[in-house]
Amino acid sequence: MSQAEEVRAATDIVKIVGDYVKLRKSGANMTGLCPFHQEKTPSFSVHPVKQIFHCFGCGLGGDVFKFVMLIENLSFPEALRRVAEKSGVKLREHPLDAVSDANAREREALVKIHEVAARFFAAQLGATAEGRAAWAYLTDRGLSDEALARFRIGYAPSEGHALLRKLEGEGFSGELMEKSGLVLAESEGRRRLDRFRRRVMFPIARENGSVVAFGGRALGDDLPKYLNSPETPIYTKSRVLFHLDQAAKAIREADEVILVEGYMDAIAVARAGFEQVAASCGTSLTSNQARLLARYTRRVVVNYDPDSAGQAATERSLDLLLEEGFECRVLALPGGLDPDAFIRREGAGAYGKRLKAAPNYLEYLADRAAAAHDLRSPQGKVAAVNSLMPHLIKLPSALLRREWIDRLADRLHLDDRLLREEVRRAADTRRELKAPETSAALVASPAEKELLRGCLENAELVDEFLPGLAAEGALAGLPTSNIFAAILAARVRGEKPELPRLEEVLTAAEQRLAYECQFADAEPLTREAAVRCCQALQRKKLERERDAIQVAIRAAEAVGDAARLGDLLRAKLKLAGQIAHRDSA
Ligand SMILES: [Zn+2]
Repeated sequence: MSQAEEVRAATDIVKIVGDYVKLRKSGANMTGLCPFHQEKTPSFSVHPVKQIFHCFGCGLGGDVFKFVMLIENLSFPEALRRVAEKSGVKLREHPLDAVSDANAREREALVKIHEVAARFFAAQLGATAEGRAAWAYLTDRGLSDEALARFRIGYAPSEGHALLRKLEGEGFSGELMEKSGLVLAESEGRRRLDRFRRRVMFPIARENGSVVAFGGRALGDDLPKYLNSPETPIYTKSRVLFHLDQAAKAIREADEVILVEGYMDAIAVARAGFEQVAASCGTSLTSNQARLLARYTRRVVVNYDPDSAGQAATERSLDLLLEEGFECRVLALPGGLDPDAFIRREGAGAYGKRLKAAPNYLEYLADRAAAAHDLRSPQGKVAAVNSLMPHLIKLPSALLRREWIDRLADRLHLDDRLLREEVRRAADTRRELKAPETSAALVASPAEKELLRGCLENAELVDEFLPGLAAEGALAGLPTSNIFAAILAARVRGEKPELPRLEEVLTAAEQRLAYECQFADAEPLTREAAVRCCQALQRKKLERERDAIQVAIRAAEAVGDAARLGDLLRAKLKLAGQIAHRDSA
């Protein structure tokens, strides 16, 4: 057994997928919202027996390794390793292919460097005078030693070579240190230098908890106030959310996530008992981050700073979330306070109350519009509606838009029927959200699909029926012909015809068709049923021949070729006899 087969056998795809997608039982399958495209009703299915997944919406499908490759953006060897870890299978030495080996090893070394750095920074808080000053600053901001330990907060010394020496001591090469982004390259006679100096350090972790970057806040007046790790082979800023690794479980349980701007905000909210919090660590959210969140929940409370920069970031992020189909609320704290400052001043209970009462995004906008315009005048009403329009049209479906128009019209007391109509028309002219890129669907006959399902389930059916069907040309020209050819080729190589292994030679549309067959809600195909499928395919082949002859007959009639016409008519008669014989047999 290969390593991959060993891991596959020890793994339950339902469990692995369940870490990313909320799955519910539906007949023999498990279904959920597809993590690879935007949707409101579940078309993503996992087959617990066949151990495969398929999305009937966007057409993606595969086995557990393919799923992990897609969702974690990993190479096959990396996905194999990840799944092996989760399933507790020990891989033998050198499990990685030589090709992707180097990259995977480098990424692993970069993760190691970050772990060493995180420990180093954390140890600094008590180690030196300036470290203790940093500790005092953090304590002053209300962080207990327990909190510092839990969030792995640390300190980067001002001297400039402290981390460098530590990493050298651990045997990391200069080149790798530079690649990690933690050390600046030497230039113009300057030695290598620590990137982060005299800063409080917040480790940023991937969802699996491994540290892949840092955010550093200046302790003094150094600029910039916040400095982040650059993008590296293990860190893409737009794909990571601070604290998501620790919050994942709480987000699922609450079926909601609180989105804040900064590290300190996320830490303060989590410590106040609302663990379902993550920080975007930038001004506004990216669509990658939104998709990341979508794995856990479709409900977001945005709690950004209420200053004007925060306001703009809030609107951009919320518009994006609306487009991605999230249900959004807005928590605007009073007195211009950010979450950290509010909780320190008013306490966790007050924050919880505000959180509970946070209005839906569109209601929040309507209230703002109502405050900004005089709704007693027709001009004021029009102006208020116009300010809402750009947000309303971001709603992903016409149905949802209509629902909201009615709700907002009530909230703004727009009793004018004509005005409502106007708003509806404007919202309806918006083009529908583009459907995810899908491969053009192949249309196969029921017999083809049944036989295909049987062949993928049972190699014996392949061996008994496919060579004969192929030889007599009954598979030629069918939408499934290339899939059947791949199955036959696998048998010739002595392999089981398993779909995930055939993917390479199939087009996206063929893969989609094959996966869909696999999810048919039916008993395994019996030999008798397979025989009936074969007969149907043979009959179809004869019909195709008869149709071709019919075309040729018309051509011969048109040119008056009597001899050819005679041959063709005899051939047609013979075929009709064969077809009739089949039907009576
Ligand atoms: Zn999908």
